[in-house]
Amino acid sequence: LLGPDGSPAATIFEEITALAARTGAINLGQGFPDEDGPAMMAALAREGIAAGRNQYAPGSGLSELRRAVAEHQRRFYALAPDPDTGVVVTTGATEAIAAAVLAFVEPGDEVLTFEPFYDSYGAMVALAGGIHRTVPLRAPDFQPDLAELRAAVTDRTRLILLNNPHNPTGAVFGREVLEEIVRLAHRHDCTVVSDEVYEHLTFGVRHLPVATLDGAWERTLTISSAGKTFSYTGWKVGWASGPAPLVTALRTVKQFLSYSSGPAFQPAVAAALALPDGFYAGFAAALEAKRDLLCAGLEAAGLEVFRPSGTYFAVADTSPLGFADAAALARAMPAAVGVAGIPVSVFCHPEGAGRTRSLLRFAFCKREDVLREASARLAALP
Ligand code: PMP
Ligand code: GLN
Repeated sequence: LLGPDGSPAATIFEEITALAARTGAINLGQGFPDEDGPAMMAALAREGIAAGRNQYAPGSGLSELRRAVAEHQRRFYALAPDPDTGVVVTTGATEAIAAAVLAFVEPGDEVLTFEPFYDSYGAMVALAGGIHRTVPLRAPDFQPDLAELRAAVTDRTRLILLNNPHNPTGAVFGREVLEEIVRLAHRHDCTVVSDEVYEHLTFGVRHLPVATLDGAWERTLTISSAGKTFSYTGWKVGWASGPAPLVTALRTVKQFLSYSSGPAFQPAVAAALALPDGFYAGFAAALEAKRDLLCAGLEAAGLEVFRPSGTYFAVADTSPLGFADAAALARAMPAAVGVAGIPVSVFCHPEGAGRTRSLLRFAFCKREDVLREASARLAALP
């Protein structure tokens, strides 16, 4: 968890967000929306506080939220987690990921992820004393090579930590990739932890939870969060669902990480999960228009854009403009052009960073006028 010089490293999100604030740049770095989600959620949270929902919630979360999570999994995916034993509420997906890795990984166990990978995966595997193996995702489509995937999973693999839809690339993995993962999990007796925080943020493709595949349920934990689906990232309400033994293992660790999570927010998230299908479709459609707007701006600025099928991130290659080191560019760009992005290399191990050296990730979960202004500023890139 230390930087290259041995000093404590701030996450890249902290660093770039602080830099954007200092320079007055438009922050397309850290992924958070610049508009709140449904107003009824904020109203319910305020009511919860006023009504005295201010003391510890039950460790596994309020019953109404666990029931709403189970019902959501049934409604969208025909999955049937038990709301009492198969759902646990966590402090964001981040805590669910941490608790899952600590629950399943013993020192020396191998954990497989794709690379680039969300930054907390590498940190948590290190904290658990595990060995982090990766399979590269390459531009332009960022889909894994199945032979490479097969070669990377062995009897030493304890956990396959999947992220679908995928941050930072915006790739969405379909049936063929997921079936291979389930086959490998059976062959090598691994647990699958699937981080699906962007489950509702897909464009023209449907999200397919790995837990729905034949033979997957018994060995799969699915993680999600209210942050992305409902645009309340700061509330840090997340959850995990799956078969009772896996959820129990996660809950056992979670109680010593945070014990319990914010009771005033949970009823608001429960109500949001029950919003009609039109809410979910409308949100994805609005985001798709923002994706198109930002991608057009990046292309007009001369970057090569890898149009994402999901998430709220687009990856662009800066090498057509002659940049070789996107990390240096990301640190210079806020002051020089007034836009901030995140270098994709920070989602990689040093050995894998070479492949992504010229790539930047931009968040498009911003108002359209902000994306237009960002596009205009990006046109000033030399
Ligand atoms: N997983 C992925 C892939 C993410 O991009 C994020 C960041 N939003 C998280 C987990 C963390 O989610 P939360 O804010 O709910 O902890
Ligand atoms: N998940 C968000 C991103 O990838 C940020 C989360 C964080 O700041 N840790 O930008």
